[in-house]
Amino acid sequence: MMRFEFATATRIIFGAGALRDVAAIAKDFGHRALILTGRSAGRAATLNRLLAEQGIARLNLAIAGEPKLEDVEQGVRLARSEGCNLVIGFGGGSAIDAAKAVAALTTSGGDLLDYLEVIGRAKSLISPPLPVIAVPTTAGTGAEVTRNAVLTSPEHRVKVSLRSPLMLPRVALVDPELTHDLPAGLTASTGLDALTQLIEPYVSSKANPLTDSICVEGIRRAARSLRRVFDNGADKSAREDMALASLFGGLALANAGLGAVHGFASPIGGMFPAPHGAVCAALLPHVMEANLIALRERAPRGEALRRYNEVARLLVGSDRVGAAEGVTWVEDLCAHLKILPLRRFGISAGDAPAIVAAALKASSMKTNPIELTVEELRETLERAL
Ligand SMILES: [Zn+2]
Repeated sequence: MMRFEFATATRIIFGAGALRDVAAIAKDFGHRALILTGRSAGRAATLNRLLAEQGIARLNLAIAGEPKLEDVEQGVRLARSEGCNLVIGFGGGSAIDAAKAVAALTTSGGDLLDYLEVIGRAKSLISPPLPVIAVPTTAGTGAEVTRNAVLTSPEHRVKVSLRSPLMLPRVALVDPELTHDLPAGLTASTGLDALTQLIEPYVSSKANPLTDSICVEGIRRAARSLRRVFDNGADKSAREDMALASLFGGLALANAGLGAVHGFASPIGGMFPAPHGAVCAALLPHVMEANLIALRERAPRGEALRRYNEVARLLVGSDRVGAAEGVTWVEDLCAHLKILPLRRFGISAGDAPAIVAAALKASSMKTNPIELTVEELRETLERAL
C-alpha cells in the first residue's frame, strides 16, 4: 500500500530577477537580518543594497568552505548579541546550511553538540528557528528546500547533520541570474551534484509518485542543459534549467532520500578536504554501474532496474536505450566536464576500508536501491580513485 509524506519550504519563489523581491519578503519577518555568505562576501553587495533601501539592518558573516561547528557557534553569538530576527543564507549549499543551523540554534538553548547526530546527543529541536530566507547562488545542492544542515567537525574528522523538520527555510528564493557568473569548474561539479540528487531519489527505495514526477522533469532538464551551461556560462535558458534541476533535486532528496554516492560522499567529505560536488561527480558513474551489476544479479525483475532504464532514456533522450547506455552517457558527460578522479584530493586505495566502513553507516546508504556488499563498495570506490 502506498503511503508517503512530502514537506518543503513554506514558499518557493523562482525566476530570473527574483532577488529584487527579497526586501519586501524580508520585511514580513523583521528588520534585523544576519546574512551568511560564502567566502566572497562581495557577491552579496546587491542583496545588502536592496535590504538597506528598505531600512533592514544587516550583519554579514562569511563562511570559508563547508561550515564548521565553530562557524555556526560564531553566527549564533552574533545573532543573539545583535538581536537578529531573520537569517538569510546567500551562497552555495555551505552558506545556506550555515544559515539554517544558526537560525535553529539561536532560538534553542544549550550547546550545538546537544542536537548533532553521531558526535552529539541528537536531541530534537523544540523551539521554532528564526525565519530563514535561502538564496542559492550555485545550481547544485538544493539546500534551500532541505531540512538538514551538514556541518564539519575537523576535530572528529566527520561531517554530521543537524536535522529537524523545523529547519525547512520559510522562503526559498531561486534566481537563476545569480548563477550566471559561476566559473566553469564549479558549474560542472555542482551541476553533477544536482544530477546525482535527481537520479538517487528516483531509484531510491523510498521514492514516491510525487518525488518521481519531480525527478523525471529535473533529470530531463539537467540532461539537456548541463553540457550547454559548462560550454557557455552565459546561456540563460540552460542556467534556468540547472537552477530548476538543483531545486528539484533538493525537493526530491528531502522526501525520498539518496543512495550510495552520497553514502560515500559523507565520510569522504569529513576525512578529506574535498568539496561535496566534486566528490559526487567523481563517484556517480561508478555507483550507477555497481548498482546495475548488483541489480541484474540479485533483483533482475525488480522495480529498480526498470527505473535505471527510464533514467537512461531521459539522459540520452531516446526510448530505444537501456540502463547501460545511461552509465555511458554519464561517463561521457564527466569527461566533457573535466571531472577529476578522487585521488586529486589525496585519497588512495589504502583509505578504502575506513571509507567503506563509515559509508555503510551513512543514512543515504539505507535508501540505495540494493544493498551493496563491502567488497562491491570497495571496488566501486577504487574505480573512482
Ligand atoms: Zn549532494
